[in-house]
Amino acid sequence: MIKTKLTIFSALASSALVLSACSSSDTTSSTDTATPQSEATASAASESSSPSETGSVSVIATTTMLGDVANDIISCAGGTTTVLMPVGADPHDFSASSDQVASMVNADLVITNGLGLESGLRDALENAANDGANVMEVAALINPIKFGSGGHDDHSDEEGHDEEGHDEEGHDEEGHDEEGHDEEGHDEEGHDEEGHDDHGHGDLDPHFWFDMNRMADAAQLIGAELTQITGDEVYITCADTTATQIQSAESDVREILESVQVEKRILVTDHDALGYLAAVYGYEVAGAVIPAGTTAASPSSSDLAELVETIKAEDVKAIFANTAVPADLADAVAAETGDDVSVVTLYVGSLGGPDSPAATYIDMMRSNASLIAQALQD
Ligand SMILES: [Zn+2]
Repeated sequence: MIKTKLTIFSALASSALVLSACSSSDTTSSTDTATPQSEATASAASESSSPSETGSVSVIATTTMLGDVANDIISCAGGTTTVLMPVGADPHDFSASSDQVASMVNADLVITNGLGLESGLRDALENAANDGANVMEVAALINPIKFGSGGHDDHSDEEGHDEEGHDEEGHDEEGHDEEGHDEEGHDEEGHDEEGHDDHGHGDLDPHFWFDMNRMADAAQLIGAELTQITGDEVYITCADTTATQIQSAESDVREILESVQVEKRILVTDHDALGYLAAVYGYEVAGAVIPAGTTAASPSSSDLAELVETIKAEDVKAIFANTAVPADLADAVAAETGDDVSVVTLYVGSLGGPDSPAATYIDMMRSNASLIAQALQD
């Protein structure tokens, strides 16, 4: 037993080394190869302003998911988007190069996820904002939920159901995500964020992209902001197109995830990242290898032992790992259970590369839904 724990911890240590090596990358990727919008939309755009004027807006997005959605809007209007994080980077860990920091100050708009997701960019974003950059924190604007909203303890407790609709606007959460239940993730998050999070929103879950309706709302907010900055309505028109595409794909994702029998909808993840997906599609988050809302935290040996027991007790079929983080710890936990628990790697913190099944945000979500459904139905 002790030997196993040591193995788990040495896996964690080597993971941390790999992560910090990756985060020093100063690669700036651009999603300018994204498919342009329809001819009809492009010609509607040209009525309100010339493509060259419109395309000159300078936009930087932090994560690959927001970069893809922003670029869908901006390429429709004739421009391109710069994405700070390269494919495969962990958004909790990535830090910017000095060139990237300088480019943020000069951009017309810096689109960030916010709510503490981009821990490694915190100082750079604050400095850029102090130097006059227009920094948009999307997650705070789309009615974020609290960590633990998909917690399994809630189902036996009826009182939360009276709250239905209390914190949602057209998103299908069951609304039983009340404070005080399932505190495990809260404590870890709050502890880890101490001294890092100056905005006091450590209990709000930043991983909103796992709710595609919220991402559609985010697209429209980005479009409205760009129209505000440029005075050009084309961004609102383009954002409406993007939002409609995301909503349309959401119905496919819903069909895939709801095809899994209710009693099999149990998620164990690498960290507490799938709360939105669980809340929207009626899944239970039974545990996480890193029981925190960030990959920067570390599990204790008792956390890992408890997770192994949970996996056995709930007959969990799969641990969902994350392409942005090495799977060593998830593999070690799966091995420790002694059962046939598979480790399935999802696209959690980043899109996949151009030739992957998750090259765009929509493809990422379809791909994740299929991987989850396959793993749990087997
Ligand atoms: Zn995360």
